[in-house]
Amino acid sequence: MKLPFIIIVDDDEQVLRAIQRDVRNKYHTEYRVSATDSAKEALELIKELKLKNETVALFISDQRMPEMEGVVFLEKTKEIYPESKLVLLTAYSDIDVAVRAINKLKLDYYLLKPWNPPDEKLYPVVDDLLDEWQAQYKPDHEGIKVIGFQWAPKSHKLKEFLSGNLIPYLWMDVENDEEAKKYLVSANLKFDALPLVVLKDGAWLSDPALPDLAKHIGLKQTASEKMYDVLIIGGGPAGLAASVYGSCEGLKTILIEKSNPGGQASSSARIENYLGFPKGLSGADLTRRAITQTLRFGTEILTPKTVQNIRLKDGYKITEMTDGSEIHSKTVIIATGVEYTKLEIPGLEKFNGAGVYYGSASVEAHACKGEFVYIVGGGNSACQAAMHISKFAKEVIIVIRRDSITKTAANYLIENISQTPNIRVQTSTEVVSVDGEKVLEKITLKDSTTGEEKTVPAKALFIYIGAKPGTAWLKDIVLKDEKGFIITGNELVKEKSFNNFWKLERKPLLPETSVPGIFASGDVRSTALTGISSAVGEGAMAIRFVRKYLEQM
Ligand SMILES: Cc1cc2nc3c(=O)[nH]c(=O)nc-3n(C[C@H](O)[C@H](O)[C@H](O)COP(=O)(O)OP(=O)(O)OC[C@H]3O[C@@H](n4cnc5c(N)ncnc54)[C@H](O)[C@@H]3O)c2cc1C
Repeated sequence: MKLPFIIIVDDDEQVLRAIQRDVRNKYHTEYRVSATDSAKEALELIKELKLKNETVALFISDQRMPEMEGVVFLEKTKEIYPESKLVLLTAYSDIDVAVRAINKLKLDYYLLKPWNPPDEKLYPVVDDLLDEWQAQYKPDHEGIKVIGFQWAPKSHKLKEFLSGNLIPYLWMDVENDEEAKKYLVSANLKFDALPLVVLKDGAWLSDPALPDLAKHIGLKQTASEKMYDVLIIGGGPAGLAASVYGSCEGLKTILIEKSNPGGQASSSARIENYLGFPKGLSGADLTRRAITQTLRFGTEILTPKTVQNIRLKDGYKITEMTDGSEIHSKTVIIATGVEYTKLEIPGLEKFNGAGVYYGSASVEAHACKGEFVYIVGGGNSACQAAMHISKFAKEVIIVIRRDSITKTAANYLIENISQTPNIRVQTSTEVVSVDGEKVLEKITLKDSTTGEEKTVPAKALFIYIGAKPGTAWLKDIVLKDEKGFIITGNELVKEKSFNNFWKLERKPLLPETSVPGIFASGDVRSTALTGISSAVGEGAMAIRFVRKYLEQM
C-alpha cells in the first residue's frame, strides 16, 4: 500500500526545517513527509497527488506567508482533500485568526510556535489527528477513472470501449459525484473538457480519441511480425475462436478488431445456450475467457483498428487499415459478423449514446436505475436486454410492431419476461419520434391499429431490430450474396460466374471465399447458422482449412 502524505508549508526556512525534522522523526515509517516554503507550489503538488490517487492525511501550514495566508491555503486544500486534517502554525499574536479559522474552516488544531518539546506539544496532537483520519479514511479506486456527464455520447463511447476491452475502470458522473469534480479541479479543466480519463499513474487525457486511449492503457497498436500465417478480421466469437485455434496450432496469428473484442456476444447480458455453462454466462465473461486463452497461446490482438481493404500480391494478402497501416499475411479470415440496423426516425441520431443505444444494455443498465426504459424489437437480443435492464429500471417496455413476441423470441425468454413484473410488452406499436434538449427525454409511440399517438417520458431507448453484414468495406473483393453476406465453398460453385473468378484446379475449401486463401466464418458468411456456438465452431473450422491451404501454398 502507498503511504499517505503529510504536507508542511512554511516560508521561514528555519521553522520549516525544524517542523519537517520533528514530523519525519516520528512518522516516517507510516507517512511520507513533504515540505515546501511555497504555498502555491504546495497547491500544485496536491493537484498532482490527487491525479496519482495519492492520499494526504495532514496539512500543516504557517499562517503568515507572503504568497498566501495559511488559512487561505488550508481552505484551498479542502477543494481536493476535504477529509485531510488541518493544522495552522501560529505565533501567539495570531491566536485570534486561528480561533476564527476553527469555526469557519473547521481547522483541526492550531499549534503555537515553538512546539518544544515535541513529545509534549507536537506528537500527542498529531497522533490524535492521524488516528482520527485513519478511522474515516476509505481508499480511492486504484485503477482508471472515467469522469463525465452520464448521458453524454462521448462518455458512453469511452465506457463501452473500456468495458469491451475488459479494462476495469471507475465511472464518475460529474453531476452526481463530488469526488469527480476534485479530479477536474486537479487537472485544471472545465466541464467542456469532459470526458476526462485519469490513468493509474496520474496522467490524464481529456476527451481522448479511442486509439490514443488504447495506446495509453497498453493495448497493442502495431504488428510485430512482417508476415503472418493468418490474419483474422473481427474479434467476435468466430474471430476469437479462429485466433485460439490458430495460435494453439502454432500458426503466426494476428487478430484485428475495430472496437472491442467479443462482437455482438459481448453485449449479451446472459448467454444461456453455450455448451458447458449450465447456469449461463455473460458475454463479457465469455469474451474475457476467450481473450485470456488466445493471448496465452500467443495471438497478437490489435484494437481499435478498422480494416478497410485487402490487396493481393503474388498470392499474399495485404490488409489495409483506416489509419494507413498495412499487415502482410498468407491467409485472411473475415469474421466481421453483422452490425445493428439503425432505426430510421428523424433526429434520432442526435441522441446516439445520449439515451439511444444499440446493444449496450450491459454498459448502461446501471444508469437506468428507477427510470422508464423502452426497448425496440422482439427478438432474443431485445428480450435478453429487457431482462437485464429490469433489474435496475422502474419499468421496461418492449415495443414491437407485431401482435406478440412468440414468433420472434425463444420460449425460455418469453417465460422469463412473463414472470418479471416490471417488464411490459407493448404490441402493434412503433416509435415515431424522439425528443429532448441535450439528451433523450421523451418518445412518441404510435398504435398501428388505432393510429393513436402518445408521447411518454423515456430516459433510454435500446434498439434491437436486426442486423446487416459487416461487409460494406469489402466492396467487390470477394463475392457476396444479394444481402451482402460472403459466399463460400460449395455455394460458390453454384454461381454462374464460377469459372470466371475461380481458376484453380481444386474446388474452393468449405469456408473459402471467391479469392483463394481468404476465408469467411461466423454470422458474416452466407448460409451460416447464426449464434455463438455456430460462430465458435466456424472459427475453429476455418483454421483447419487455413492449414490445408498453407500446406498447398
Ligand atoms: C445482445 C445480443 C445477445 C445475443 N445472445 C445470444 C445468445 O444468448 N446465444 C447465441 O447463440 N447467440 C446470441 N447472440 C448472437 C451472437 O452473439 C452472434 O451470432 C455471434 O456473436 C456472431 O459472432 P461473429 O464472430 O460471427 O460476429 P460478431 O459477434 O458480429 O463479431 C464481429 C466483429 O467484427 C468486428 N468488425 C466488423 N467490421 C470490422 C472491420 N472492418 N475491421 C475490424 N473489425 C471489424 C466487429 O466490431 C465485431 O467485434 C446475441 C446477439 C446479440 C446482439
